Amino acid sequence: MIEAQQATLKEKLKEVFGYNQFRGKQELIMKNILDKKNTFVIMPTGAGKSLCYQLPAISQEGTAIVVSPLIALMKNQVDTLNALGVNARFLNSTLSKTEVNRVKKEVLNGDLKLLYVAPESLTKEENVAFLQKAHISFAAIDEAHCISEWGHDFRPEYRKIKAILQQIADIPVIALTATATPKVQLDIQKNLNMEKANVFKSSFNRDNLFYEVRPKNQAKKQLIRFLNDRKGKSGIIYCLSRKKVEEIAEFLNVNGFNAAPYHAGLDGNMRMKNQDDFLNEDVDVIVATIAFGMGIDKPDVRFVVHYDTPKSVEGYYQETGRAGRDGLVGDCLMFYSYNDILKLEKFNKDKPVTEKENAKLLLEEMSSYAESSVCRRKQLLHYFGETYHEPCGKCDNCTHPKEKFQAKEEMIIALKTVKLTGERFGINHLVNVIRGSKDQYVTSYSHDQLEVHGVGSEKEPEFWKSVIRQTMLNGYLDKDIENIGVLKMNEAGEEFLKDPKDIEFTINHIYTDVGDEDQ
Ligand code: ADP
Ligand code: ZN
Repeated sequence: MIEAQQATLKEKLKEVFGYNQFRGKQELIMKNILDKKNTFVIMPTGAGKSLCYQLPAISQEGTAIVVSPLIALMKNQVDTLNALGVNARFLNSTLSKTEVNRVKKEVLNGDLKLLYVAPESLTKEENVAFLQKAHISFAAIDEAHCISEWGHDFRPEYRKIKAILQQIADIPVIALTATATPKVQLDIQKNLNMEKANVFKSSFNRDNLFYEVRPKNQAKKQLIRFLNDRKGKSGIIYCLSRKKVEEIAEFLNVNGFNAAPYHAGLDGNMRMKNQDDFLNEDVDVIVATIAFGMGIDKPDVRFVVHYDTPKSVEGYYQETGRAGRDGLVGDCLMFYSYNDILKLEKFNKDKPVTEKENAKLLLEEMSSYAESSVCRRKQLLHYFGETYHEPCGKCDNCTHPKEKFQAKEEMIIALKTVKLTGERFGINHLVNVIRGSKDQYVTSYSHDQLEVHGVGSEKEPEFWKSVIRQTMLNGYLDKDIENIGVLKMNEAGEEFLKDPKDIEFTINHIYTDVGDEDQ
């Protein structure tokens, strides 16, 4: 890239946005785009992803296409850019014919720097034809995890984007997401045909957030106590159903808290009013379904409560991420009940098989997270492919640690079992082998002949599952990203087998539900 462009970036950063410095890898990312290379950005919410494509769009000739999944998000960004004096527009189903024509004219004149489009609009033939005539600088795909069925927010239209872009022009692509587990990341890269793209990933650690999981016993009472300690502070309480949202909002108001409901069943005006009241601090607590939050930028949310157990760890992490965006403390409390998991499973029963299995796996990961006694931060970061060395000191499992044991021998057994069974199996089969099961899978693969078969028969299945999970969390086993559920050896694991060291694991604590969980 020419030096002049680099200087321009820095100048424009100050001139247009009023910022003195780039954050994290922003500048590297922008240079990559200006160098016309494909770019993949994985950064947590609030890290400053939008600027990564906005600034390069402003700094060069032509119009950048920005694919964005939500009309509200698009409008928000376009309004902000217009207020900064940047010529940006959106193209989606809310525009009239006259408005569409005006936007098109601006693109063809070369006046427009950024054109936001919904995937549904991008794939329309007439739009493709018009974009072919325009001078397009590059394409940005925001919320790129929508491409993946393994993400928490799958949008089938997203899968068509690449083919459409190829028809439009030979332009570099920048894909951005805040939620890429290694599996989702691979899926995005494959779908966009950008396996060779430069990947910029920053840590997902949010060190001002405190994570806590409590059994859902007498949850209403617990909630009142939790809120009493945070009177007058802003917070979000997530519930699974609209009915529960209404119920909890009313319950809180009756108990003297200033709360309002938010869900897709409320009429538009009411929803808007409750959201505005929350943003303007006329309401302290918003009780909401997960419909609330995407694109909401309230910096001083002091707590996020999951009253019901969430559907996936990824979704949960996104939602907790709305706390403490100003960098000050944020408390994330989740109530866990296995009953909730079963309820969620029931919701999925009519889905196609693969979707159902995927949803089930996400739920299993959720309950494994909730029931575990390992540092929460370590588990969450592991989910995003990061190894974190506990204790973090800011989670329930760190501040109230559970009992530990010397796990060297157990870990050797776990690793050997993965290796000897050929790195082709998931946790249940591995545990069956270790505990000496003679079920048809174990026998048909002759795994009852292995030296590890039955060596752990005196311990419960949960104990061994926990050993295997902790082996993985500590970075000695990998999840196979091609085959969901399958565990594989890695270098650290092989090394450990050659030269085993002392290592402590926590004794897993399992929550049992007590009758009146919801009272
Ligand atoms: P993301 O899309 O990653 O969730 P945003 O793009 O919405 O994050 O950015 C979050 C906030 O950080 C915005 O208010 C944005 O203006 C601000 N921001 C981004 N980059 C910088 C920077 N270099 N210096 C200061 N503030 C920044
Ligand atoms: Zn911790």
